[in-house]
Amino acid sequence: MGKLSNRVNTISESQTIAMARKSRELKAQGVDIISLSLGEPDFATPDIIKNAAKKAIDDNFSYYTHVSGYVELREAICKKFERDNGLHYTADEIVVSTGAKQSIANAVLCLVNPGDEVIVPAPFWVSYLEIVKLAEGQSVIITAGIEADFKITPQQLEAAITPKSKLIILSTPCNPTGSVYNKEELRALSAVILKHPELYVLSDEIYEHINFCGGHESFAQFEGMKDRVITINGVSKGFAMTGWRGGIMAAPKWIAQACDKMQGQFTSATSSITQKAMHKAMELDYATYIEPMRAAFLKRRDLVYGLMKDIPGFKTNLPQGAFYFYPEVSYYFGKSFGAHHIQNATDLSLFLLDVAHVALVPGAAFGDDKYIRFSYATSEANLTEALKRMKEALAKLQ
Ligand code: PMP
Ligand code: GLU
Repeated sequence: MGKLSNRVNTISESQTIAMARKSRELKAQGVDIISLSLGEPDFATPDIIKNAAKKAIDDNFSYYTHVSGYVELREAICKKFERDNGLHYTADEIVVSTGAKQSIANAVLCLVNPGDEVIVPAPFWVSYLEIVKLAEGQSVIITAGIEADFKITPQQLEAAITPKSKLIILSTPCNPTGSVYNKEELRALSAVILKHPELYVLSDEIYEHINFCGGHESFAQFEGMKDRVITINGVSKGFAMTGWRGGIMAAPKWIAQACDKMQGQFTSATSSITQKAMHKAMELDYATYIEPMRAAFLKRRDLVYGLMKDIPGFKTNLPQGAFYFYPEVSYYFGKSFGAHHIQNATDLSLFLLDVAHVALVPGAAFGDDKYIRFSYATSEANLTEALKRMKEALAKLQ
């Protein structure tokens, strides 16, 4: 085997994707795995969106588009920001990509120089640190524990800022904790950011539509912040379109232009058919198509929260958005069953995969291996069975 670059050798494989692969392999061997590892809605993409894509194929909308997405799509995205978030953008401040993941990578690679510091509140989503590593930036982690509902304070943020700080990456609603920053909390963080003119915010709002606390608050809404915030969104989560690969970034024009240039050398535009589907998604009647999915997620959250009360040693918050639980599980550390000796959440996840046939993701992927993350974006029957299996398996640990 030849020698790979240091660049790829310094990053780890995405653990969400690795766990999903492992459970697919076991399923293919005939093992009855319930997979709660990968965060993706189990709903079908709404027919009205699928029909727009079918029409695009029949209309031969099959050519390269503008790298940032065709202009009418970007105008529809501007209308979405105006309508849903009270933010005024023009089409040249929007870049459509192959997913929120690419949008994040574009922004980080365009802003971060080697040695620049990127502040990342923990728990964080798996890919942030690895993307920062690719840019040769230095992640500076601020931890917010379960007692703070996993949300950082302005004081913590202030203390983490140095002359090298370039970016802070924050997700609200948060993957993995489901925590949602309210308007006052975001305003207080904004006040700190505004004191540091060289600091930018990458606000990952991909879970905007999966919110159980009365509505989404965008980071860019506060006086002075629109010039400092790169808002990340997309169609994967809210519109059940993970495989379509459609990401959205709204940012100051100079950043959007840089991301267009970067993307023009890597992937060009996302699929023209996906763009037509995204266009329909931007104009969708949310009450008819989006609200039923949100309501189903809320019902599942409550179901799982109830079932988890019966599992000894799982400490959890009550998630206010997204579709994950992130319980603290250190109660089981030091316990054993057969060849399984549990010392951390990675051991516990492997134990649960092996004994309960339930796949989830250890907290190591999100900054703390005392936690496990599982997605509740699956049927109530699957969730009930998964929690039953977990409870029975955990009872075997002595
Ligand atoms: N950000 C967060 C917080 C996520 O959970 C995910 C996972 N899908 C992404 C970004 C990437 O989403 P996409 O499918 O649009 O690339
Ligand atoms: N974002 C989802 C998750 O956290 C999908 C996996 C990924 O893109 O890494 O599970």
